[in-house]
Amino acid sequence: MRQIDYIRISVTDRCNLRCVYCMPEKGVELLKHNDLMSFEEIYNLVKALVPLGIKKVRLTGGEPLVRKNIEELIKLLRSIPEIEDITLTTNGILLEDMAEGLKKAGLSRVNVSLDSLDEEKFKKITRWGSLDKVLTGIDKAIKVGLNPVKLNVVAIKGFNDDEFINFIDFVYNKKIQVRFIELMPIGESDEEAILKHYPIDAIKKLIETKYELKFNDNIRTNGPAENYNIVGGVGSVGFIGALSHKFCSSCNRLRLTADGRFRPCLYIDQEYDVLKLIRSGASDDELRTFVEEIILGKPEGHNMEDGWGNQRRKMSQIGG
Ligand code: SAM
Ligand code: SF4
Repeated sequence: MRQIDYIRISVTDRCNLRCVYCMPEKGVELLKHNDLMSFEEIYNLVKALVPLGIKKVRLTGGEPLVRKNIEELIKLLRSIPEIEDITLTTNGILLEDMAEGLKKAGLSRVNVSLDSLDEEKFKKITRWGSLDKVLTGIDKAIKVGLNPVKLNVVAIKGFNDDEFINFIDFVYNKKIQVRFIELMPIGESDEEAILKHYPIDAIKKLIETKYELKFNDNIRTNGPAENYNIVGGVGSVGFIGALSHKFCSSCNRLRLTADGRFRPCLYIDQEYDVLKLIRSGASDDELRTFVEEIILGKPEGHNMEDGWGNQRRKMSQIGG
């Protein structure tokens, strides 16, 4: 059986931004409060899964920082001795105000999504976000010790391909890892993703016109990034190629949607309703058996290049 030590938990499908490739501006149907997993349900489930080897938890969404009292969930998860790492992926808008409380609650570190360092372009891609807020949020996260901060940059041909080197300039003297992620044909991006696809090998080549990169197998990540030191600099760079470098055979991810569905593969429209099982009073043993079967059935591969088809979920509803 695959060794799964990592679970990604979406805590909400709501978001304070509307990135054009992720969420439509209007008309997304949002979950009702009672459809969301409560903090206690998430905590009990994670605790039940510890004997399977789960050691790391990533909170995501939607925007996890808009889930009310998210610090309380982090404290609960932190009280499970076997959970070594609790991380969170955020758009960074609320980070300046919340970083200190998150750290105190026991969060290990954050990944901040940031697709442009240009105010106008940042507004265009997020529809109304403030770049300044995200940049001050990143500084605050570093200051309170949510390290190492990672920046997630979705590479989009014709939008931010003129900024790839700027991102390296930006992290060169900072303890930040910038990670370039291929745009995936999911939800809102679907066909556009193929047209605007910028393969990670080409991004690396472009960066190497200015910087020397040195492969580093020791950089700590939970996922499929290929990591490099920027020679002479403090920061580092990672590349995630879900399309051009499929990593399905080594995928150690288990995704849980905000409404309590396990989704063994981000791309494949197959979900297992664990919340229903929990609310019907399942024992820890029954939950473990349920999850073991999901892990055993984790698909060998995906056909992302064929597009999203008629799947109903958007990325914000699955949990990125
Ligand atoms: N709201 C948080 C954020 O933006 O970091 C967490 C959720 S978001 C869905 C998680 C990540 O998924 C972000 O880095 C976002 O850029 C990425 N993402 C969303 N749609 C994507 C797509 N179609 N292809 C590649 N990455 C995508
Ligand atoms: Fe919100 Fe993150 Fe999706 Fe952007 S990528 S709309 S910030 S959930």
